Amino acid sequence: MGHDVDVLVIGAGPVGLTLANALRLLSLQVRVVDKATGENREPRADVIFPRAGEALGSLGVGEAIQNSSYQMKGADFYGSGRHLGRFEVGRFSSRYPTAMTIEQHDIERLLAEELARRGGGVEWRTRVTGLRDQADGVEVTLRLRNGGTEVTSAAWVVACDGIRSSVREWLGIPFEGGQRANMQVIQGNVAPSWSLRDEPGRGYFFLAPYRSVIAFPTPACGYRVFCVRDDPDPGRTDPPTVDELRDLIAETSGIPDLGFTLTEPVWLSRARFADRIAAKLRSGRVLLAGDAAHSWAPIGGHGMNVGMLGAHNLAWKLAAVHRGHATDALLESYDIEQRALAHDVIRDMKHNIMEALLPPFLHRARSAFLRISMSMESVQRRIEWMMSDFGRNHRASPLSWHRTQRFGHGLRAGDRVPNIAVIPSAVSVGGGPRAAADEGARPLAVADGRRPVGLHQLLRYDRWTLLLATARAETATLSTLRTVCEDFAVPVEIAPVTVAEPEKGRQLGRAGEFTLVRPDGYVGLVASVDQPEVLHDYLASFSRPRPDAGECTAEQCG
Ligand SMILES: Cc1cc2nc3c(=O)[nH]c(=O)nc-3n(C[C@H](O)[C@H](O)[C@H](O)COP(=O)(O)OP(=O)(O)OC[C@H]3O[C@@H](n4cnc5c(N)ncnc54)[C@H](O)[C@@H]3O)c2cc1C
Repeated sequence: MGHDVDVLVIGAGPVGLTLANALRLLSLQVRVVDKATGENREPRADVIFPRAGEALGSLGVGEAIQNSSYQMKGADFYGSGRHLGRFEVGRFSSRYPTAMTIEQHDIERLLAEELARRGGGVEWRTRVTGLRDQADGVEVTLRLRNGGTEVTSAAWVVACDGIRSSVREWLGIPFEGGQRANMQVIQGNVAPSWSLRDEPGRGYFFLAPYRSVIAFPTPACGYRVFCVRDDPDPGRTDPPTVDELRDLIAETSGIPDLGFTLTEPVWLSRARFADRIAAKLRSGRVLLAGDAAHSWAPIGGHGMNVGMLGAHNLAWKLAAVHRGHATDALLESYDIEQRALAHDVIRDMKHNIMEALLPPFLHRARSAFLRISMSMESVQRRIEWMMSDFGRNHRASPLSWHRTQRFGHGLRAGDRVPNIAVIPSAVSVGGGPRAAADEGARPLAVADGRRPVGLHQLLRYDRWTLLLATARAETATLSTLRTVCEDFAVPVEIAPVTVAEPEKGRQLGRAGEFTLVRPDGYVGLVASVDQPEVLHDYLASFSRPRPDAGECTAEQCG
């Protein structure tokens, strides 16, 4: 069956737009439709954490977002009006080392602008009213902005249609989980008058019995305030008043004479949340992503971030399967990895101190604990690591093979590859057919053979990268690994490197190992250079053979 388009993306929220950009970067034909008007989008989420920043960076839109946001510097903690400690950030090596504060409607605008540069666009006021999943494509019915109806076909459909996803419902996929009891979240954009220091990137965390407030400056003006409180009247759904918001912040922060004005865009929201994950993220040729796939209380600010990471996980897999470079096994790993990630986030968010609505005596104990622990560098480091999402991994994925002895806290298959400084070798060996990168794809990092670069500069979203420390790479080894890679349709680039800081060399594995990095920057395989058959078996587990390559057995390749 011929299709009108390769992928139809339903929903132009942050996740649909991230996905569309990633698919366009991989040169797929993409159509994005959204039932909304495209005007007055809600500010909602307002932070991009470092790992999502890296993901957006690999799609070519990270810098634009960075330039339009505040870089988080840190925050002060207060308990019942008393200063408990100061949290500082910026400990980890990354092109996006700190969280970026920017509101959701601005993120969406920048993503849509990038999509337009890649030849894509959003069809607003276009509602999907039904779909029929067939063996070789999906028939989709659209209600167009002029009131007419269109029936179109797509090879794949990705539903990024939000928490109340109609697609999820039509497919009969249960949204498993439950409502958060006794918790409501009240948000607004305000310019406060207080004696606290106002500095871009520096925010405040206020804690009190049964209350917490997060306040971070936004580039638009003023602060986004995010109040979590108990929920004595769960039936109440009216938007909060200015007085209600003011009293809540004043009471929690211990600043009784607090005053503020509302800032643009005026947004006062009262919301309650549920922790839910779809029972599966794929049904035939239809996939779920973003809030349609999972949702939870966004107090840690990870709802949008995890959705974007899911889109980043999905696009390269979908493109490889669509092109016939990979088998269904690759696409199945999206469901496994993303659902596991959502489970982990929901578990972690329940331990988030800002979500814990504590009675007075437990609140006092928490304040005492924070006063001591915030002065400890190890605690600060741990909090920053958790917030960054750098530690989130796919170790339990079938796509993560660790075939050498593991040691201590070293790099494992499934981990995000660290951005350590390396000196790329002049030799760089490409295997497999090149993905047709369009004009927007980042060029290969050009090394002059002497200057160290961040390892992430060698990674690219349209191919795998096999990293090998040059000291361990004899010409014969390189040639054998290259021969293995050339037998497969998925593109692999072999990148011999010298670790610039020897004390960090172990982060790239031990002597005699190589590390195969996925297009989305996670380690797929760690194995010994003496076992090229392991590389063969790994690639054979999801990649199709290269059309012009005779199938080789493990022995031949070894
Ligand atoms: C009140 C509130 C406050 C929040 N605050 C935060 C926060 O502080 N931090 C944080 O990280 N997250 C926050 N979130 C969550 C965050 O906004 C979401 O995680 C994020 O928007 C998910 O993006 P998405 O693209 O998956 O879905 P959405 O942004 O919901 O986009 C879905 C899109 O699909 C379109 N659509 C739906 N059905 C159809 C159809 N049939 N046909 C065509 N189009 C359709 C909709 O019009 C919409 O534009 C908040 C959410 C809410 C509701």
